[in-house]
Amino acid sequence: MRHEHVNWHTKTSQEVLDALHVNEHKGLNAHEIGTRRTQYGANTLSQKDEESLLKLFLLQFHQPLVYILLLACLIMALMEEWMDTGVILAVVIVNAIIGFWQENKAIKAIEALSKLSHSSVMVLRGGEKLLLESSHIVVGDIVLLYSGDKIPADIKLLHAKELKIDESLLTGESISVEKLVGVQSADTALADQTNMLFSSTLVTYGQGIGVVVSVGDESELGKINTMISNADVLQTPLTQKLAFFSKRLLYGILGMAGVTFIIGVMRGEELVITFMASVAMAVGVIPEGLPAAMTIILAIGVVKMASKNAIIRKLPAVETLGSTTVICTDKTGTLTQNAMTVTEMMAAGKTYLLSGTGYDPKGEIFEAKVPMAPTKGSALYETLVAGVLCNTSRHVKVEGVYAIEGDPTEGALIVSAKKAGIREKLLLQEFTHVDTLSFESEHQYMASGYRVVGIESYLVYLKGSVERIVERCDLFIDEQGSLLPIDRAKIEAYAEKMASQGLRVLAFAKVYLQEKIDPLGHHHFQKGLIFLGLQGMIDPPRIGVIKAIKSCYHAGIAVKMITGDHRMTALFIAHSIGLKTDEKTAVLTGKELEALSDDELTSLIERVSVFARIAPEQKLRLVKALQSLSHVVAMTGDGVNDAPALRQANIGIAMGIAGTEVAKESADMILTDDNFITLEDAIEKGRVVYDNIIKFITWILPSNMGEGLVVIFAILAGITLPILPLQILWINMATDSVLGIMLAYEPKEKNIMDRAPRNSAEPILTGRLLFKVALVGILLALSAFSAFFYVQFLGMSEEVARTVVVNIFVFGEMFYLFNCRSLHYSMFQIGFFSNPLLLGGVALISALQLLFVYAPLMNQLFKSAPLGVVEWAITLGSSLIVYVVIEVEKSLHVKRSKAL
Ligand code: ADP
Ligand code: MG
Repeated sequence: MRHEHVNWHTKTSQEVLDALHVNEHKGLNAHEIGTRRTQYGANTLSQKDEESLLKLFLLQFHQPLVYILLLACLIMALMEEWMDTGVILAVVIVNAIIGFWQENKAIKAIEALSKLSHSSVMVLRGGEKLLLESSHIVVGDIVLLYSGDKIPADIKLLHAKELKIDESLLTGESISVEKLVGVQSADTALADQTNMLFSSTLVTYGQGIGVVVSVGDESELGKINTMISNADVLQTPLTQKLAFFSKRLLYGILGMAGVTFIIGVMRGEELVITFMASVAMAVGVIPEGLPAAMTIILAIGVVKMASKNAIIRKLPAVETLGSTTVICTDKTGTLTQNAMTVTEMMAAGKTYLLSGTGYDPKGEIFEAKVPMAPTKGSALYETLVAGVLCNTSRHVKVEGVYAIEGDPTEGALIVSAKKAGIREKLLLQEFTHVDTLSFESEHQYMASGYRVVGIESYLVYLKGSVERIVERCDLFIDEQGSLLPIDRAKIEAYAEKMASQGLRVLAFAKVYLQEKIDPLGHHHFQKGLIFLGLQGMIDPPRIGVIKAIKSCYHAGIAVKMITGDHRMTALFIAHSIGLKTDEKTAVLTGKELEALSDDELTSLIERVSVFARIAPEQKLRLVKALQSLSHVVAMTGDGVNDAPALRQANIGIAMGIAGTEVAKESADMILTDDNFITLEDAIEKGRVVYDNIIKFITWILPSNMGEGLVVIFAILAGITLPILPLQILWINMATDSVLGIMLAYEPKEKNIMDRAPRNSAEPILTGRLLFKVALVGILLALSAFSAFFYVQFLGMSEEVARTVVVNIFVFGEMFYLFNCRSLHYSMFQIGFFSNPLLLGGVALISALQLLFVYAPLMNQLFKSAPLGVVEWAITLGSSLIVYVVIEVEKSLHVKRSKAL
């Protein structure tokens, strides 16, 4: 439905809220949602489904081959050859239907993926904050936006704190614009409406609150929603290369067809026959099944990956995955479980150990093996309080199991405090929250400011990495709560000791401030903080990660850990998961990285496997340095500032759980479980997809070549065609869609992760492949020719001889299909039954071919004829020759490559 256009940017906050009947502090009530959805529509973009389906169908006819066929059809009709006209027409239509069906299936599969990765957003409803899927938003919702979010609908801004938005989607301008609350004149252009936020743009910095004014098709995005053309969705570098290859092939073939036609005519052959022969050649040589098959193989791979938690956002990633040479991976949550438990603390120079497991608050604090409770005001007590008050996460119990909502690092601090009997609820009777400066990896600390009963000034608690906190502290608090001058080196040494046991260490501090702290800024904390203590937490490696890393090494892929954590913590984890580390050069910190020139970095980056205390911005440099050494880099990331590195990487990988929308938008792939093992598995699947594409190409080209050769020779030699154009059409259609496509389901080869990564600069058709294509093509052509003459020599009719030729091609391709199941192993090594679909295809094509030979209707349509035992023996014998020759070639090749 269309709604009256309102210039929301000209209205004040109150006017907007009044017009939409919503209270900004409460949000909408649950019972209003349904009516608003019917009144204003749902927050989804309507799909122009039918239109695109029709287009997809018509596109099937928009192929040079089809043009040739239609022309042939027209000529046949003019000559009143109704039978041929009808058959060609039927072939064209059946071909279009098969192509349409396959492509539509592929498109649907890939579209379904985009729905898997929906974005969510924080909304205020009935006075409560809820995390909602963006499609559930309605007009009037009050939305809370944070850096990294994707704007769910068009929104009028009510509050903003340094809110910056990337609107490049709408305006093409890549620099983020700052948004401000206010009123603007009616003639303000969209790009200048700084008090409005638009659907699908991205929050790159700061925070904001706004009210939804239009959703779905009514939003600015909805208005320009020109459905991404389906054809583009399915393009990858490989498909483009192949499209280019096919086009060149086509011109060559058309040229040759023209020449053959002219030669034929000059010879004084009948015009129609020569014309049909030329058409036959063109039809035979063009691998018309290739593009559709590629799409299907890619789509099947993508769907398989999605079922294993790896969502491909950009199709080319499937191909690139297999050629990855370096993985740069986050530590926390990807290599480790991100299940944090505080096990050790330091306060006022003393060590405390904590018992208990996971997020269960059962446990005690021990001082020198004796359980104890911290006294109020002591350093230990203050450290625990700081952990609770400087926190944005929640400790919850879901169905009897304790869990954390939010950041596990923070959750662990709530649990450790509970072990000492300190609870947020009780604290909040004394403390009133004022503002929070949230944690960002590049600053490595966060702060939360409070008003406290009985004190004039504000009290701010901070927590963060030891280096960032301690450098700002002058004093520390002792066991009795007195303030003493700080010894920074001692604290840092202590933290290093904790880190070298693999603990993730957080430092805590507080400060009293007189000046206004709403909003809090970094300028508040340059110096003068009071150090409170340290908390160290364990984060066990993920189960199975050791094996996955080993498998990467086997596959010739280097693994580098990139983390914001302390170098010793990182190194400990690296050792425990089997990351190869050469002691001297193993770790490079962000600070050291900063001091290196690009050349220096390039010269040592391959020897470093752990990068610690890395700011997100530095990841970009790492990617570029690796790429300058011709590496194909897969890089993981989650935050807003990881986006440039994700885009630069050959494969950018965003975390599905911990990742921001900004990171996901920049990524080629999303790991829905944030797990390194999933990534390793996806690389393996990427290799399988590429393998299967190569197998398909190796399979399809020889028959086209063989058919072309047969026709050309016949014309040049001035003999009758051993195979008719219609018969060639039959062979290609039947074998492509029933046999070849089954290679898409070929399971992985057992050595797939023992090979070195594919060289991405290598052409698709390597010398060996070309040789094989030529060999099989020539074999097929030779058998066809000899059989054609031999059968006639035995006294059979031309029809029978042609039927044998058709059979040689079909069965030859069937046997050759078994060759192509693996480029390295024989069919018996990979298991005869390991691809059941392929066996089904073989059965189906055999049945079709029996029809072709024996069904009277087929005999009439395709001018085929029933065969006897001898003809079958000839057919199967020559097909078998192809199989044996290629197996011999394969084993020779394997021997040779082993000898090298
Ligand atoms: P990574 O994600 O690679 O583990 P982070 O950037 O999250 O690295 O953390 C870097 C350092 O920042 C940690 O070692 C820790 O000291 C500190 N830190 C991590 N999370 C928080 C947080 N929520 N609040 C304060 N400090 C944190
Ligand atoms: Mg982190």
